[in-house]
Amino acid sequence: MTDFAKDLLVWFQEHGRKNLPWQSSPPDIYHVWLSEIMLQQTQVATVVDYFNNFIISFPTVVELANADEEEVLTSWAGLGYYSRARNLHKSAKIILSKYHGIFPISYSELISLPGIGESTAGAILSLACNQSLTILDGNVRRVLSRYHRVAGHYSDSKVLKNFWRLAKYHTPSKQNANYTQAIMDLGATICVPRKPLCSRCPVSRHCKANFCNDQVSFPQKKARTIRPEKSLAFLVYHNIKGHIFLAKRPGRGIWSGLWSFAECEDNETAISAAIKEHNLEASIVFSLPKFKHSFTHYHLWIRPIIISSPGLEKGYHNINKLVLGVPAPVKKIISMLDYLNSAESNE
Ligand code: SF4
Repeated sequence: MTDFAKDLLVWFQEHGRKNLPWQSSPPDIYHVWLSEIMLQQTQVATVVDYFNNFIISFPTVVELANADEEEVLTSWAGLGYYSRARNLHKSAKIILSKYHGIFPISYSELISLPGIGESTAGAILSLACNQSLTILDGNVRRVLSRYHRVAGHYSDSKVLKNFWRLAKYHTPSKQNANYTQAIMDLGATICVPRKPLCSRCPVSRHCKANFCNDQVSFPQKKARTIRPEKSLAFLVYHNIKGHIFLAKRPGRGIWSGLWSFAECEDNETAISAAIKEHNLEASIVFSLPKFKHSFTHYHLWIRPIIISSPGLEKGYHNINKLVLGVPAPVKKIISMLDYLNSAESNE
């Protein structure tokens, strides 16, 4: 076992996180899987409530498999990166049909499920089954990049290969579940992005970045690429009852399968044509300020236009009783409308 792994395992006994809601004795692989998928791109503090609510709605993988995609997306709404929820649902269906509802515990079977890559499969089988497998998530990369002063960004395949080599080198053959939790915890609580707490770090004595005092230079950054900007107008139609028009988005593209406002290009011609097509009686009431929503590959500027649309009911929803999965910008606009309504009623 490497010194790094030994020091981490000793530290874990006293300082590791052992009471997260998906940690149980013995571990429940369904819970571990859900948490690992939710924790991709999302912090523990945010995930805890989503996880607790999700397992109330879908207590077992079989119940998840038998649920409608709509219900799954609704439980996921707000966590972002919705392909994760769709892949969870698809995987649950495969587990039910191919493995009779029993979670597969071989690496090759697990990695063939949608949304489960090398690191996630390693984490699930390590944490749930104590198999000697390796993880390489963002926290682990940060720790290793500093400990070894790894040059380059992981988007370069040679650098990524080097990260995997180092991660496997340190992975112990025994106590693997504790080691995996320990290295994740170290990255989340001690070797944090901005101000790593090196004086409290169990592996500081051999950490090269600590020795060179250039910890925050690692992980090295990718050459900056400028994300393009796009813009859209959201047409927020409300009818006489104050109900809002929402349409289900197509199965492909951004926010696929979620419910959103009507939209069009953000220019006067497109807006007035879209409004006429929706309802000849409709008229613009006011516009809310534009705001920016960022995706990995571009920034989207959204202009919400509030439109009175008398006479229509079909496709209109009471936002006070909304149970549909909506993307974050739609949620934001709905809460702005709530605020405006309550401000008006207080006047
Ligand atoms: S010594 Fe500091 S930089 Fe090195 S692994 Fe520990 S916290 Fe990270």
